[in-house]
Amino acid sequence: VSVQQLDGFGMDYNPESMDAARIVRELRNTFRSGLTRSVEWRLMQLRSILKLTQEREGDIKEALAKDGDKCSFEAFAGEGRRSILTLLLFRSMQIFVIISSCKLALKELKKWTAPQKVSTTLATYPSTGAIISEPLGVALVISAWNYPFSLSLEPVIGAIAAGNAVVLKPSELAPATSSLLAELIPLYLDTSAIRVVEGGVPETTALLEQRWDKIFYTGNPRIARIVMTAAAKHLTPVTLELGGKCPVIIDATADLNVAAKRIASGKWGLHGGQACIAADYILAENSIASSLIDKLKVTIQEFYGKDPSKSSDLSRIVNTRHFCRLTELLDDIKTSDKIVHGGERDEKRLYIAPTILHDVSIDSPIMAEEIFGPLLPVLTVDSIDEALELVNSRPKPLALYLFTNKKDVKEKVIAETSSGGILINDCFLHFTNSNLPFGGVGESGMGAYHGKFSFDTFTHKKALLSRSFGGENAARYPPYTASKEKL
Ligand code: NAD
Repeated sequence: VSVQQLDGFGMDYNPESMDAARIVRELRNTFRSGLTRSVEWRLMQLRSILKLTQEREGDIKEALAKDGDKCSFEAFAGEGRRSILTLLLFRSMQIFVIISSCKLALKELKKWTAPQKVSTTLATYPSTGAIISEPLGVALVISAWNYPFSLSLEPVIGAIAAGNAVVLKPSELAPATSSLLAELIPLYLDTSAIRVVEGGVPETTALLEQRWDKIFYTGNPRIARIVMTAAAKHLTPVTLELGGKCPVIIDATADLNVAAKRIASGKWGLHGGQACIAADYILAENSIASSLIDKLKVTIQEFYGKDPSKSSDLSRIVNTRHFCRLTELLDDIKTSDKIVHGGERDEKRLYIAPTILHDVSIDSPIMAEEIFGPLLPVLTVDSIDEALELVNSRPKPLALYLFTNKKDVKEKVIAETSSGGILINDCFLHFTNSNLPFGGVGESGMGAYHGKFSFDTFTHKKALLSRSFGGENAARYPPYTASKEKL
């Protein structure tokens, strides 16, 4: 029996009908009724997301496999069934991420929602002050295809925890997960406040024409501009979780054996490079570049065997459009001696081999756009300073990875670069720590989420100052006489 059947919520909800204005109107009425502000209601919905994820694990795995051609490890890093270390080693932790986020929100929600007392000043004496975490209202979450389950539900958890009504628009490029979410959410959650709208550009455009109190968008920077333009019409705040070219900087002091494994797992292990925090290109110090390439080649064979096309651990390219985009980038590298490993492709199976490119021109298209696939350019630099100059001359990335054993290099790179996050001596793991904000800066996005940051993203911090009728001070009121000025 679903939550709404128990409580009589949303019985008239028909997922087939898509009338954006009506949906927003209905959700706004629910929000105005105060239902979603109740901490009990929020806890109930969060418990239901947890239940949905745990009870329907099999269906979710199946949908993820259909959408991403991923191995089952990638679809489910089964919480409690493998050690936490094993979990960290596996790549897509979508179900694990949602289970942990629900558990964290359930545990911390009362603390997060409590007014935060602040000290007051002499000017307001006597008074008390507090920051009230107020829900924004009706939120729209637009998510992307590459991690379609967690990228959809993670922001929804934040929106609900913060007391908002929310519409989720999953990606049409992950149709199995999208339709599963559209089927399951009405079964488990209160549809008077939480809806799923499926669809592509026309449906998203219709949604964006509405007035929202918050828009949370995950996807590419081009569409983010469309989202932000629509939001500007109503001064709607946005969180934009975008991508970009995440550089790996590696100096001569790095442990190359470990680095090669971690870079390979942060590239081909992340959905075949189709992840926002996948390593995009490497800037390697001259003295170690060829040795690093050799170790990356060995690692590829260790991970995916002699013929990676036969490996079930390697994701395929999402669709023909992206396959063609990637092969064009590859074909653009005119001299084939730049392709030092891989390069094989099979359009029918949407397969592109893990590919290493050496010293491609900095002006080539592959160095201009986010690769989002299994191609990895390795560029050599004479020094860390040269690497920093190159990184700083480009849009700010979502993540920057540095491999070094030198303290001063770590400090220099942290201080002299700007990125959504920075990870030293590894790739992508910062995203698994919910105590860290996850988000971009500049071209890689704005705002952040995960853990308490998800709650904050969907919250207005309202200033509260409260006084009694005592503590009157005549000096604050006109007429401002000379004697008052002396006070
Ligand atoms: P996508 O094609 O799934 O699109 C994302 C969303 O935008 C979808 O829901 C889609 O329906 C919507 N959309 C597409 N065209 C639209 C339009 N004209 N108007 C309104 N909405 C529209 O995903 P994508 O953009 O190819 O995703 C890949 C990008 O997302 C990469 O740049 C990647 O780095 C980034 N990404 C970022 C994160 C993050 O957390 N920062 C996570 C995943 C992906």
